[in-house]
Amino acid sequence: MVQGLVIVGAGQAAFSTASKLRSLKDDRPITIVGLEAHAPYQRPPLSKKYLLGEMSFDRLLLRPEQWYQDNNVELRHSTWVEEIDRQAKQLVLQNGSTLAYDQLVLATGATPRHLPQDIGGDLSGVFTVRNKDDADRLSAEMKPGRRLLIIGGGYIGLEAAAVARHLGLEVTLIEMAERILARVAAKETADFIRAVHTGHGVMIREGMGLLRLIGANGRVVAAELSDGSRLDIDMVIVGIGVSPNDALAARAGLSVRNGILVDTFARTSDPDIFAVGDCALQPWQGAEIRLESVQNAVDQAEAVAAILAGGNQPYQPKPWFWSDQYDLKLQIAGLNLGYDETILRPGVREGSISIWYYRNETFIAVDAINDARAYVTGKKLLEMGKTPEKAVLRDAQSDLKQLLS
Ligand code: FAD
Repeated sequence: MVQGLVIVGAGQAAFSTASKLRSLKDDRPITIVGLEAHAPYQRPPLSKKYLLGEMSFDRLLLRPEQWYQDNNVELRHSTWVEEIDRQAKQLVLQNGSTLAYDQLVLATGATPRHLPQDIGGDLSGVFTVRNKDDADRLSAEMKPGRRLLIIGGGYIGLEAAAVARHLGLEVTLIEMAERILARVAAKETADFIRAVHTGHGVMIREGMGLLRLIGANGRVVAAELSDGSRLDIDMVIVGIGVSPNDALAARAGLSVRNGILVDTFARTSDPDIFAVGDCALQPWQGAEIRLESVQNAVDQAEAVAAILAGGNQPYQPKPWFWSDQYDLKLQIAGLNLGYDETILRPGVREGSISIWYYRNETFIAVDAINDARAYVTGKKLLEMGKTPEKAVLRDAQSDLKQLLS
């Protein structure tokens, strides 16, 4: 009997797998099982326009509920998958019922890291942002004049800082590393972004850790910082990264190492089980990488759909990413891992620059700030496997188009 495809998780990667299969005219039974009470939706606006109140939830939905009915995709909301029984090829759901599969796609995403309880992580007024409910709870508390502490100077923390300033909160952001964006971007990018935030009144304190949060009546009221100072606050956003949701896979005996290990076909150590999106640890230039981006969630899922439909193309990530803060638009193409040189190119407009990353004289990535031309050129160069001449990049008057010829 045909059991069809079951997808665990109902986020971006789950939707993209199902929708690609249907667009390939594959009509096998598809069931998506997800914990959240909603159809799959986009997460990026949760720390941007949705948090700001400028975008309704309807506009976040990747497709309206009707799409799933029209496309014969069964969507099971509010359902947690407890176990995978690989012998019986079935899932055990939280209510004890089972769901059989022929093939399984794990699209379980990631969970934000929380502060430990013993330093105040469980106080009320302490937030993380991963899903709609998190964003709704947070936005209800973002009132003008409130003192917000953001822990972590990565993209989510910085985007939340921009929204909070827009809404009139007083914002302090602490970063334990020596500078913001230390893990993901060059010093030049961080310097530019820091200056924009400081200009908007965010107090950024780098090289500063959190010792503990102090509560009164269960609610956070202050933070003790690593230099011994105390900061009176009304609320906290924790943006210290995410952990992949790989426990389900690990319990089923699949290979897991900070993510569900997959090959270039997104296959796990069980040939009938695939993993896609934030939860998957995939091969990358002789090493392994977990990508947390819409690009990867969509492209890896679509690659798996094509494989399920009979294709045999391996998935080659072509990473790109973006972040919006105030009217700053950062667009990134490529991955800057292991870079040993950067070239800064001033943009034609005021407030625009691009930072070009090289490793062993090979171009590997670009950060373009308010500079769509630099982003598009960098992305095309990466696709063509070409390394631009540094002198052309350094000359702000040069036409980037010449690099593509
Ligand atoms: P998810 O979207 O996390 O979906 C996984 C789903 O699986 C979740 O709903 C989870 O509840 C469910 N689940 C997990 N385990 C189970 C289980 N056992 N049973 C049932 N359900 C389960 N990316 C960008 O490229 N650009 C951006 O600007 C950007 N901004 C972001 C801002 C925020 C606030 C966040 C949170 C993310 C942002 N991202 C951004 C990252 C991007 O949204 C993710 O990479 C993408 O959503 C990953 O999709 P996914 O389907 O792999 O996982």
